[in-house]
Amino acid sequence: MSTVIPYGRQHITEEDITAVIETLKSDYLTQGPKIVEFEEAFAKYIGCKYAVAVANGTAALHLCTLALDVTEGDKVITTPITFAASANCVRYCGGEVVFADIDADTYLLDINNVRALLESSPKGTYKGIVPVDFAGRAVNLEEYRKLADEFGLWIIEDACHAPGGYFVDSKGEQQFCGNGNFADLAIFSFHPVKHIACGEGGMITTNDEDLYKKLLKLRTHGITKNEDQYTNDITFATGGVQDDSYPAWYMEMQTLGYNYRLTDFQAALGTSQLTRANEGIARRRNIAKTYEDAFTGKAYIEGQSGAIEGHAYHLYIIEATDRLGLYKYLRKQGIYAQIHYIPCHLMPYYREFGWKEGDMPLSEEYYKKCISLPMYPTLTDDELNFVINTIDSYYKQ
Ligand SMILES: *Cc1c(COP(=O)(O)O)cnc(C)c1O
Repeated sequence: MSTVIPYGRQHITEEDITAVIETLKSDYLTQGPKIVEFEEAFAKYIGCKYAVAVANGTAALHLCTLALDVTEGDKVITTPITFAASANCVRYCGGEVVFADIDADTYLLDINNVRALLESSPKGTYKGIVPVDFAGRAVNLEEYRKLADEFGLWIIEDACHAPGGYFVDSKGEQQFCGNGNFADLAIFSFHPVKHIACGEGGMITTNDEDLYKKLLKLRTHGITKNEDQYTNDITFATGGVQDDSYPAWYMEMQTLGYNYRLTDFQAALGTSQLTRANEGIARRRNIAKTYEDAFTGKAYIEGQSGAIEGHAYHLYIIEATDRLGLYKYLRKQGIYAQIHYIPCHLMPYYREFGWKEGDMPLSEEYYKKCISLPMYPTLTDDELNFVINTIDSYYKQ
């Protein structure tokens, strides 16, 4: 095999390309009809009421902390085993990130550790929780909602890894990631390694109408063109002339917002990609099953993602003996496995806040062994077998 096999990659079809080209030839490159089309299709897919398309997943997180009024000193709990943006969004608003350790089997933020933190401080100390559907495995948000309500917290679900993933609730019903039934807000990313690719792109989903309206405004400079929200009167708006309506040019900037918009051609790509989302997940689950079967019982495997119901398989992770050796060997064979993640609390930026080795023992232990294997819908069976056989041959030498 001559070409490199990455851990994740996009799948672009002729239909996707046509959708983008048609939008490039249309009247709108941005702020046009493709945005709403994508938002509506995405909300339907996820099963939530409202969706707000934004420039990327990090912008989505930032808008969430803004909409929830995170301010200086607010304490927010998240997992160290995530992409830094899940924590950074709290810092953008001056809040304080408090990490809690993972569950060693699921790799997800352990609710027992979160509960212990909440119970060891006076009520009101913490403002929110950012659980992450890490690797595509859905967090049980029904349990998190109960805990959050007990302590008056909000929840931002970082569902970047899990569009189409679900957990089964206490009534036996499938609860899809980002459906807004439990979390206040959820966010997704459309970076090419994620399930749905827009180049760059993100989405916020919610069932809360007030938060939805706030997000729309924050996405575009804090500007509204909705007359019902105007605070200046018509005579001011017209330029000192009495009239019975606001002039068409009028708008108000009411709060400090940003330009975090998605373009129409990216949205067109997203909508086109979305039509294949279920197909993509089915293939991912199929790959996961093949990995699981191949690695079960192998002495060099200390843990693996496994075939879990509702898992969206953004990543397939194994915990392996001699991880560094395996990583280098795979790379030499053109298999670019990846490590997810370097524990966030030990990034130099977060060490400055006092976080140190030993603070999150399970996350740190996990980091020593984890490696994410190639996982994407266009990975062929031949490539998949090549990956499995190459891993096997490393440990046989
Ligand atoms: C990718 C990702 C983000 C950030 O998304 P971008 O679109 O790259 O800004 C945030 N959280 C998690 C868990 C991610 O995987």
